[in-house]
Amino acid sequence: MSQLLWSTPKTLRELLCELVSWDSITLTEGETTFAPKALDKLRELKYFQDHPSHLQLLDAGLGRYAVTALYKHPEAVETVVLISHFDTVQTEEYGALQPLAYFPEELTKKLMEDPSDLPESARIDLETGKYLFGRGTMDMKMGLALHMQLIEKATVEEWPINLVLTTVPDEEVNSAGMRAAVTQLVRLREEFGLTYKLFLNSEPSFSQNPTDIAEYIYSGTIGKIMPAALFYGKETHVGEPMKGMTANYIASYLTQRMEWNSLFRETDLGESTPLPVSLQQKDLKMSYSTQTPYRAVALYNVFLFKRTAAEVMDLFEQVATEAMDALNTDYQKICQREEVKGVGTVKVLRYEQLLAYATQKLGAEEVERLKQEALMQEDWDDREKSLRIVDNLMIQCQELAPATVILFTPPYYPAVNTSNDPLIVEAVELLKKSGQSFNNKIDQIHYFNGICDLSYVNYDDSGNGWTAFESNTPVWGDTYSIPFEDMAQLKGPVLNVGPFGKDAHQRTERLHVDSAFVEMPVMLETLIKSLY
Ligand SMILES: [Zn+2]
Repeated sequence: MSQLLWSTPKTLRELLCELVSWDSITLTEGETTFAPKALDKLRELKYFQDHPSHLQLLDAGLGRYAVTALYKHPEAVETVVLISHFDTVQTEEYGALQPLAYFPEELTKKLMEDPSDLPESARIDLETGKYLFGRGTMDMKMGLALHMQLIEKATVEEWPINLVLTTVPDEEVNSAGMRAAVTQLVRLREEFGLTYKLFLNSEPSFSQNPTDIAEYIYSGTIGKIMPAALFYGKETHVGEPMKGMTANYIASYLTQRMEWNSLFRETDLGESTPLPVSLQQKDLKMSYSTQTPYRAVALYNVFLFKRTAAEVMDLFEQVATEAMDALNTDYQKICQREEVKGVGTVKVLRYEQLLAYATQKLGAEEVERLKQEALMQEDWDDREKSLRIVDNLMIQCQELAPATVILFTPPYYPAVNTSNDPLIVEAVELLKKSGQSFNNKIDQIHYFNGICDLSYVNYDDSGNGWTAFESNTPVWGDTYSIPFEDMAQLKGPVLNVGPFGKDAHQRTERLHVDSAFVEMPVMLETLIKSLY
């Protein structure tokens, strides 16, 4: 009989179901109570009873905590950081089955009773008996369960390597958890003299299309940044349209040039970033009236492989300038046709330029007050706050209008890739071989395309491209910040190896049981043992 708590497929499956039962949707009560429960669970291990200070809770804001658990071998210096997130997306889409979303065994049984309302591919998988359904099974409480299994084994068998289990909240929204953990990882490294040899995340392997059954390991992660704009036109009454310019008219020029713009496509190692699209475009009028909407905002999603925030801002400014040039040309023709003077040409300015102008005009104190006015609104998220800060400043600087003010809003995920690191090249070969022993074909992808917390380690930006983010993100330092300097200290290759599953973020989220409970434990143990 094993003395280990979580070492068999059965006990590991029970551990997963317990972690899933602690519902922890991002920004709910459950997300705040998860970390203390995880800590209690880790305290069941004798090692942490003997070393209580190796377990730590870190404040991630809004009552939420990240957890670090350090297994330190007395002689080992080299260290693997095991990264997971414990928050999940919402469960509304489960409908009548919502109460079972956190009980994988019960949910899977219930689905068996009447599989007919599942999409065909999910029904077929269900009937094989090889999948466990439930919110967070795949994304990504299984990753955490696997890391708990690893750290238990390492402590009992005294593996000559150090492990830092790091599990965090808020991955699905702003990654506040990982951004807090980064600073702790730097602290732990100094306190215990650790060398970080590998940052190992265990987000699930995502299928590339509905029939894809290959399993993937990822040696990097895609980045994401959100350029945004505030369009400030000139108000008028609908009866006198030529006396003003609507913000919607201005916005349409930029949005049309941003969506699917191939300037933003990056290609590296045979992979390409998806093209940009807008995530939001709205005018800021609170209700219907016959005054024309003269302030509007838009948010764009841009994926990254190599580019820094500074490079994206330059490109965004270029596109915005071209868009406004086109607008100004068209508008001039319309003014000629209508024999009016017009309201002027639309300028493009960066948030940092607006801020400098406003500070000079209004004084630093008044600018701070205008910022705080937006920051105090608790029901606004960081995006809304960012845009409203710009709006507040523009209202006081209307002589700049008509204008398009360009900025960034949170979140920002830098891209990371370490495919060419010799350790990763070897690890990928080893994992492929290990997969073969289970008759699984394992392929490598260079950039994990699901966005993950690995973005916040191994940061490399010798040109300080991040400063363009800092100076153009209105909420920077107030409600949002990124520890770029600490991230740059967490040097080390990254890898994502996790269980196979399907339909993350859907009601058919499901985990492949052999991959999760039989194959992954062997593959991950093989990987860690190859590092010492
Ligand atoms: Zn995830």
